[in-house]
Amino acid sequence: MAKLPPKPGASTRSVHAGEREHHQDHALATPIHQTATFWFENSAELREYAEGRLQRDEYGRYSNPTWRVVERKLAALEGAEAVVLTGSGMAAATTTFLALLERGDHVVVTRDCYRRTRQFIKQILSKLEVTATVIEPADTGALKAALRDNTRFFFTESPTNPYLRVIELPEAARIVHERGGDIKVLVDSTLASPINQQPLAQGADLVLHSATKYLGGHNDLIAGAVVGSAQATAPVRALAGVLGGILDPHAAWLLLRGLKTLGLRMAQHNANGLAVARWLEGHPKVRRVFYPGLESHPDYRVASELMSGFGGVISFEVEGDLAATIRFTDGCRLPYNAPSFGGAESLIEMPVLMSYWDQPQAERQALGISDNLVRLGCGIEDSADLIADLEQALARV
Ligand code: PLP
Repeated sequence: MAKLPPKPGASTRSVHAGEREHHQDHALATPIHQTATFWFENSAELREYAEGRLQRDEYGRYSNPTWRVVERKLAALEGAEAVVLTGSGMAAATTTFLALLERGDHVVVTRDCYRRTRQFIKQILSKLEVTATVIEPADTGALKAALRDNTRFFFTESPTNPYLRVIELPEAARIVHERGGDIKVLVDSTLASPINQQPLAQGADLVLHSATKYLGGHNDLIAGAVVGSAQATAPVRALAGVLGGILDPHAAWLLLRGLKTLGLRMAQHNANGLAVARWLEGHPKVRRVFYPGLESHPDYRVASELMSGFGGVISFEVEGDLAATIRFTDGCRLPYNAPSFGGAESLIEMPVLMSYWDQPQAERQALGISDNLVRLGCGIEDSADLIADLEQALARV
């Protein structure tokens, strides 16, 4: 195993943590263990393994050596004991929810949240008679009032998607844990990454990531992760092996490669996010900007306390109707018109046409998804080039 200095910085951890486990051929780059299964010398070895006297791999749905390096690296970055890798961010959420819940349980979730997570809670968990109370992100009073004897967890994104609300996690965790009864605090920290925010240190029990975004960082893989103590992640790991939404070893290797530059990339995402958000806020063709690094954002104070950077995702409303907003996004030359964020390339989308295209207008309005809302995930290009491109595209509004 890599010998790290006593208090390694985040980039030292992202380069070295978890590495040097594989000594067989001294390859510096961790090999891709592209195998479905693992063989035993003989039945005696199998027995030793089955009785827990030997730690090794058995079958690719349960563990893989390439995964293990990624899991250790991400654990070191989040200051956690354990990580469970999954085949997508959605698999991370759905496996965690199902691992924690029994029929008839209750959960509390915040309103501003990735659409498919909300769909899973509403359409699938309801089949298990699990009920959900939906609260506004900053409403700690509503959180306290929502907790019941059968509540199993409070789930929130922070920052949230698409309005970038930042939850006062230490306070929320205090309220939940003071209630007693082993209610867990689950935080989807995808929009922050472990570079910008450490939810476990702020009271969360489990942290979830869509590793598709900043962790992978290159728009070339789909992956997820669940992070926490060995005890809290154990049921998630066990259920992941049963549900089977696991990560292919090659994608795990790509994720490993992406993680090594996480600190460098996040510095550029943060710088671009702040520069572009400030510029957009001063532009006459932009009505409103939602970015937690702007003083105008309702959670600016909380974000400044809890986060060391605000990321590359900015939501904003164009000063115009649906057609004008389409003229703007179609006019952008650098950002791709695509869902997702967190990779090298900037991506831009109109939620009304992308994630929410099939929802009736009344439902969209209830969620605040207006026709002129745009989500921009700043990549790692030069901010001056991004701003110049947005300038020429806004001229079409
Ligand atoms: N969580 C957040 C905050 C997201 O934005 C997304 C996807 O956009 C997900 C979870 C789902 O992740 P994946 O696409 O990797 O399944």
